[in-house]
Amino acid sequence: MFDKILIANRGEIALRVIRACREMGIKSVAVHSTADVDAMHVRMADESVCIGPPSSTQSYLSIPAIISACEITGAQAIHPGYGFLSENANFVQIVEDHELTFIGPSAEHIRMMGDKITAKDTMKNLGVPCVPGSDGGVASVEEAQRIGEEIGYPVIVKATAGGGGRGMKLAKTAADMANAFQTAGSEAKAAFGNGECYIEKYLGRPRHIEIQVFGDGKGNAVHLGERDCSLQRRHQKVFEEAPGPAIDAETRARIGKVCADAVAEINYIGAGTIEFLYEDGEFYFIEMNTRLQVEHPVTEGIFDVDLVREQINVAAGLPMSFTQDNLKINGHAIEIRINAEKLPNFSPSPGRITQYHAPGGLGVRMDSAMYDGYSIPPYYDSLIGKLIVHGRDRPEALARLSRALGELIMDGIDTTVPLFHALLQEEAVLTGNYNIHWLEQWLDENLES
Ligand code: ADP
Repeated sequence: MFDKILIANRGEIALRVIRACREMGIKSVAVHSTADVDAMHVRMADESVCIGPPSSTQSYLSIPAIISACEITGAQAIHPGYGFLSENANFVQIVEDHELTFIGPSAEHIRMMGDKITAKDTMKNLGVPCVPGSDGGVASVEEAQRIGEEIGYPVIVKATAGGGGRGMKLAKTAADMANAFQTAGSEAKAAFGNGECYIEKYLGRPRHIEIQVFGDGKGNAVHLGERDCSLQRRHQKVFEEAPGPAIDAETRARIGKVCADAVAEINYIGAGTIEFLYEDGEFYFIEMNTRLQVEHPVTEGIFDVDLVREQINVAAGLPMSFTQDNLKINGHAIEIRINAEKLPNFSPSPGRITQYHAPGGLGVRMDSAMYDGYSIPPYYDSLIGKLIVHGRDRPEALARLSRALGELIMDGIDTTVPLFHALLQEEAVLTGNYNIHWLEQWLDENLES
């Protein structure tokens, strides 16, 4: 086992990893930019290293600075969290070249899944159901139009290098295709340096269902059920739950097995998430994330496992602590993502938190790096906390969420908390009867000006 792990991240996820390290008796090293000197992850870690100025390209994304921080502190392994360098195959290669361990999958698997066309091809060959669409990249507007006719409008043009909800354009009819194809391509080229696009059938009212998988890198893998993350704004998740209100045990076992078998087949190591759209009883693969997800705590809640501990164990060559047979679902968990944003337009709202009080009590988990007097810097993601609740069933989890939200105090800045107070009054949320477009429509009608 490692003696010391460096966490190449900040915020709540850095704390999450530090907590697992501490429980395992492993020393932790925080890295931080000059803007994060007072950040909670720096205070909580055993050691810390300043790795650069505020801009993340010069700090949290600086590979030389992070490798040097390992060398200075003697850390043997790096946990990347999510975002930043977590899905950067080049980084993994460099980490390994320095005889350090990357806590996550191999560079090869990250590369395979990072390119959406390759990912889709690989999954199709492994027997995973995919969204109907083009076979790989599309070279010209004419070809795009021909494929649009073939699969039937509406279709979605997607960048193979896309991510984070960016690099997607909808073509409702044939008349939109030329424009959608060209803008998707040029935006993707500008944002990701790769303009290649492919085409998929646009699904009108699917749910976003994702399967948590976990492999030991030696051909063994399990699934830990699904999360329903259909409540999204601009393709970004805001509310996640497990188990999914629309998934029964038989469906879960069937799609879960397809996913576990697929990752076992490629000797995948560590945590991964296979994302699907789910409509009329059919699953359609959209992408695989080769890292720990923001919403992993809902899975931890219902299976009573520590996914970060498992990641560290398999990275150190130890076996997983669970088998498919001893993974049993207990109750229901919900997570909401709280952002430092001002409604109704969700404009960033960094600044000083004058008062902070985290909710507590039975079945409540608050993952956040906030504290009284903390100043949220304007340079990074606006996620400032995740409130996760667990109950014996969905109604109990919802009641607990309402209760816990009422206890939360985050004064001094604007947050998205009022959005959740409002959503918890909505019939669709209370009954779980929503799809990926529901929240956008609700926001149009109720909030955004
Ligand atoms: P990203 O990597 O940017 O997260 P994804 O491929 O995972 O992109 O898609 C993100 C979201 O976009 C999905 O959760 C869904 O809301 C929407 N989406 C993606 N593909 C389709 C599709 N074929 N039809 C309808 N919506 C889609």
